[in-house]
Amino acid sequence: MKRGAAQVRINEVGPRDGLQIEKALVATPDKIDLVDRLSDCGFACIEVTSFTSARAIPALADAQEVLTGIQRRVGTRYTALVPTMRHLERALPCGLDEMNLVMSASETHNRANLRMTQAQSLAELTAMLARAAQHGVACNVSLSTAFGCPFDGDVDADGVLGLADHLIAAGAIGVTLCDTTGMAYPDQVARLCEIFLARHPGVALTLHLHDTRGMALANALAGWQAGVVSFDAAVGGLGGCPFAPGASGNVSTESLVHMFQCMGVETGVDLSALLEVAVGLSSLVSRPVPVPLALAGARWQTHPRPSGLI
Ligand code: ZN
Repeated sequence: MKRGAAQVRINEVGPRDGLQIEKALVATPDKIDLVDRLSDCGFACIEVTSFTSARAIPALADAQEVLTGIQRRVGTRYTALVPTMRHLERALPCGLDEMNLVMSASETHNRANLRMTQAQSLAELTAMLARAAQHGVACNVSLSTAFGCPFDGDVDADGVLGLADHLIAAGAIGVTLCDTTGMAYPDQVARLCEIFLARHPGVALTLHLHDTRGMALANALAGWQAGVVSFDAAVGGLGGCPFAPGASGNVSTESLVHMFQCMGVETGVDLSALLEVAVGLSSLVSRPVPVPLALAGARWQTHPRPSGLI
């Protein structure tokens, strides 16, 4: 089997991509505690929150409080989603290591999610990249629906690459290709990532995968084999998308870490500490969050032999 890098970076997005869609409001101190416990797991990066409007996403109205309340661990980068210039002004004083800007690779999803045309989003993001650069804050751009749109269907790979070219030229240091509603499949992921990496060798490429149709781990493996070294994931597989009915969430961080650990790929994440966080999510979000890996145990944890074997 073709192998990818010996070491990968995991960006834990549960506190943002996960909590933004939960019905039960999580109290600010509990969010701070969640991020602190995730920091203790050793993540390379944590997406802490989102600076969206409190009206659009009441669950993350406390972005500033959470960011100022967390303990910052050396070795972890703290980032937040920042969708528009207005929100960027709120985010600037919060001492983020990086901002994650966002637009969709498909026109209809962009209009539904951001209430702007793609042309308007490109202009907005270009201005935001310039503004963040004035303040010395690095920016990544997440391209939603990069592998398929729930409204428009297939998304043209050349269109995705064209958007990335434009945003990199405008100053983005990294691009995340997002499979927002779980439409990606492995050879598609490999193809797009290979082209991207050949085209932009100096730019950090991240994959953001949802498990809506059960293909997230297969897609992560395909991306890794194609040379991707950075992956978004959410503890407990939290998350979803309001436009994908029945959508399950992001690829679960514990499954991704476990898979890489089985293959001898270093993630820097302490799997047992992470499983403890995952198991505590049900009470945090007031609904059952299944963690199959916590029930079965890692594959290297064997069970006592049954007595009376022949
Ligand atoms: Zn997502």
